[in-house]
Amino acid sequence: MAHQAEIIAVGTELLLGNIANTDAQYLSGELSSLGIGVYWHTVVGDNPRRLRDALAVARSRADLLIVTGGLGPTYDDLTKQVLCQAFGLPLELHEDILEGIRLFYRESLHREMPENNVSQAMLPVGCTVFPNAVGTAPGCGFEKDGVRVLMLPGPPFELKTMYRRCAEPYLRGLSREVIVSRDILCFGLGESSVEELLHDRMTEMENPTLATYAKSAEVRLRATARAASRKEAEAMLAPVEAEVRAALGSYVYGTDVSGLPEQCLRLLSGRQLTFATAESCTGGQIAAEFTALPGASAAYRGGVVSYWTSVKHDVLGVEQSLLDRYGAVSDPVARAMAQSARRITGADLAVSVTGVAGPDRDERGNPVGLVFVGLAAPENTFCRRLELGQRRRDRIRGVSVNHAFDMLRRYLTGIPVEEL
Ligand code: ATP
Ligand code: MG
Repeated sequence: MAHQAEIIAVGTELLLGNIANTDAQYLSGELSSLGIGVYWHTVVGDNPRRLRDALAVARSRADLLIVTGGLGPTYDDLTKQVLCQAFGLPLELHEDILEGIRLFYRESLHREMPENNVSQAMLPVGCTVFPNAVGTAPGCGFEKDGVRVLMLPGPPFELKTMYRRCAEPYLRGLSREVIVSRDILCFGLGESSVEELLHDRMTEMENPTLATYAKSAEVRLRATARAASRKEAEAMLAPVEAEVRAALGSYVYGTDVSGLPEQCLRLLSGRQLTFATAESCTGGQIAAEFTALPGASAAYRGGVVSYWTSVKHDVLGVEQSLLDRYGAVSDPVARAMAQSARRITGADLAVSVTGVAGPDRDERGNPVGLVFVGLAAPENTFCRRLELGQRRRDRIRGVSVNHAFDMLRRYLTGIPVEEL
């Protein structure tokens, strides 16, 4: 399936800068994990002539076109008409899709379908229909004159749902090869250190391949194998994973997991343990990220956002003498906050964060980016001192949150907690 793909996003709002083209970003990531090379991103407004021109250029250079947006029932949604004209395919009515749209209106939107939605059930003759489980406009895929075309809806949630349920299996079905990827996640090493450790291997590997993606203080390594069967591909990935783990050691925190919070949830649930939080400069972000995960309630008891020093004392019960002597941003206070959160909530473990997120120094003159992250466990309390430097406020907060989860997962897997 050595496709050369082009993604064409249709929508004037993208050109006006009202929204970012996140659909193309998402699709590019997904297609690359299928081993499909995306060579062009095109954005075109809701204008038939310019869309026609863009299609003419795209089909002359790419053999896989993915067109997003403009499938709605309104007058400016013209993708289907223009595409069908360009490829010389008539539209035909799909009664079952029309019934589905009527039902969606009745059951999810609680009203009757307006008649102009009938046009949404019109699709190119001979195409594979992609039903829309979370909206009205169906998508589709077809092949004409050696070019494969997929049409997907613009709203990101509809696009992702349809991609996962219909478009990805459709694309996989075009090839006799199976492509399997595995994400290996690591925290605590920069992308350049990871590349330094693995660079030679990454460049010499062809199948499987190994690539890095960086994301807020984390590095994601994606290993991808092509083979005749899933089993065979998985067997090819196992030694790659082992090799990465050997090179990066305890910095690797998991495979095929969405992030550190989910890894912590898995570890806590597996051992039926709970944790709690005491947050200052992260303002509840640890709690927010963790509780965004389904199933969080089994592992998270609660927490305190102790932003003011008085709250650290009055609510958490951190001793005033500690606060006076060391200041709120300090190792002893971070430890005391974690211990208090653990005691107050009755959780097995608790994490804490106190630091200076900026943009200014705190009243004691501590520099921006100085953060203490604590972890209280039954027999011991740990603390990491971070010097994150003059970064943006949201970055300092985000990285601090990740450190808290990293300490938690290290404790739960029995490896040194304070190691950075
Ligand atoms: P609808 O049935 O909602 O009209 P549609 O398939 O016609 O769906 P559009 O009208 O093009 O899609 O876009 C609907 C909304 O989806 C846009 O206002 C925008 O918020 C979002 N959207 C569209 N295209 C993109 C894109 N490429 N990236 C991110 N968001 C997008
Ligand atoms: Mg629309």
